Amino acid sequence: MRIETRLDGEVTADVIVVGGGIAGLVTVHELARRGITDVVLLEARDRLGGCVEGVTRENGRLLQRGAEFTGAFQHALMRVIDHLGLEVEKLPRVEGDLVRVENGQRHVEAWPFASDDETGAAYGGLYEKLGEMVGQISVAEPWNAPSAAEWDAITFEDWLVRECDIPAAREAVALDLGYDTHEVSLLSIVWWIAKYGSIQGMDEFDSRVVTGMSSVVDGLVAASENVAYLNSPVTAVAQDADGVTVSTASGTVRASSVVLAFDPGMAGRIAFTPELPAQRAALIRQWGGFHDCKAYFVYDRPFWREQGLNGTLRGQSVVEFGMDVSPTDASEGVLCMRRPLTPGRWERVAPEGGPAFDDLVGDADAFFAVAIEQMVEYLGEEGRNVREFHYFEWEGDEWSQTCGLNRLAPGVLTSAGPALFENVGRIIFAGAQHGFEDTLSGAAESGELAAAAAERLLSVTEEV
Ligand SMILES: Cc1cc2nc3c(=O)[nH]c(=O)nc-3n(C[C@H](O)[C@H](O)[C@H](O)COP(=O)(O)OP(=O)(O)OC[C@H]3O[C@@H](n4cnc5c(N)ncnc54)[C@H](O)[C@@H]3O)c2cc1C
Repeated sequence: MRIETRLDGEVTADVIVVGGGIAGLVTVHELARRGITDVVLLEARDRLGGCVEGVTRENGRLLQRGAEFTGAFQHALMRVIDHLGLEVEKLPRVEGDLVRVENGQRHVEAWPFASDDETGAAYGGLYEKLGEMVGQISVAEPWNAPSAAEWDAITFEDWLVRECDIPAAREAVALDLGYDTHEVSLLSIVWWIAKYGSIQGMDEFDSRVVTGMSSVVDGLVAASENVAYLNSPVTAVAQDADGVTVSTASGTVRASSVVLAFDPGMAGRIAFTPELPAQRAALIRQWGGFHDCKAYFVYDRPFWREQGLNGTLRGQSVVEFGMDVSPTDASEGVLCMRRPLTPGRWERVAPEGGPAFDDLVGDADAFFAVAIEQMVEYLGEEGRNVREFHYFEWEGDEWSQTCGLNRLAPGVLTSAGPALFENVGRIIFAGAQHGFEDTLSGAAESGELAAAAAERLLSVTEEV
């Protein structure tokens, strides 16, 4: 790919792709496979990859700031990985128990609530019910499910409280799913799980690309002969009978069609002529998201394995969930945690007297101060011997609105959802949420679908 620092002046192409994340890069790749090579990519940031970004540690090893894990269920992503000839490896499957800390009590157990039959049964029961509901909806049209109206009228929390009177079981489901249950509709959660095929599918995030997920970005960039303009946020898209004109602050591109490859809500920053249909506009306005944060705790060795622990950590506070991502040769011990917390959720799980959500976010030291005490709670005093701490915050990232995590309030999916999978004339929508699989694989799949749609439009000369 030829990378230019910025779009300047007027350019023409067959297809314009806006957004250089996995969705946009796969669109470019797939267009080339279809013989369409006059393609221009416009990216707002000064780098490509979107929510995928590698960071090199002092010892030369790579960490992923953003997306990292995959599994065989991510079919579209696997197709891309195969085309690029990259290798996938399983995460270390360590024998042993997990550690769960609840209200200061430490439990070492084979699975969550193995030591608490009543809560374990309630926890399993919630998943059984969710599994039945997942079987009743179509990923392509969740709004047409027989119970869609009913499920979209209530929050996921309303449903949890209705179905289960054990708070710990409800909290455990919320932790697994990483959502603020008070904010999102029941239908949006059932739909999201359906994208994994089943409840079990969600457990299959068990692999990683050996050279890191960022090598997928590198591979797609290296395989392309197109031009990408960085630092070029698109501000306007105008379409007419013959094509589209896409504008940035310093230039324009004219083409047959444009692929907008990012979160649905991000299109709210773009002026469309003519205006978008009311339902798509409503979808853009109401598509909420929240930011993610990732941290790595690096130890000299995976010492928890010597204690019979598998490195899975479940609890409250900042390290709600952690797992062992040590290198295959166990030459060091690495635990990774994600905190897809929202301020509302933080209020409910924050330690008493602890910092406010806003004081933690973006402040690695404040975060570490809380997190390290939690690591000791989980792993004993040895948990304090962190050799390296890496903290990657996405909150406040101007160009990643959702990190692939949707926040759909009651009513949004049934009222505005049907616009999601519909293109508008020569404007094609891509990005993770526009695929039928989830996150990275949804992004890759949306890129494949967008390339096919752009190819069709290239042969259409009259008004579409
Ligand atoms: C911390 C973290 C961990 C994650 N872990 C995983 C994981 O392990 N596995 C997994 O499958 N998924 C994971 N995800 C989710 C996954 O990263 C995303 O779902 C996926 O990368 C989204 O790809 P995308 O191309 O749709 O969007 P993005 O990656 O958001 O790319 C969109 C691009 O469009 C650009 N853009 C936006 N607006 C404009 C504009 N107006 N003009 C020009 N450019 C614009 C943005 O700058 C961005 O580069 C994770 C995400 C985060 C943040």
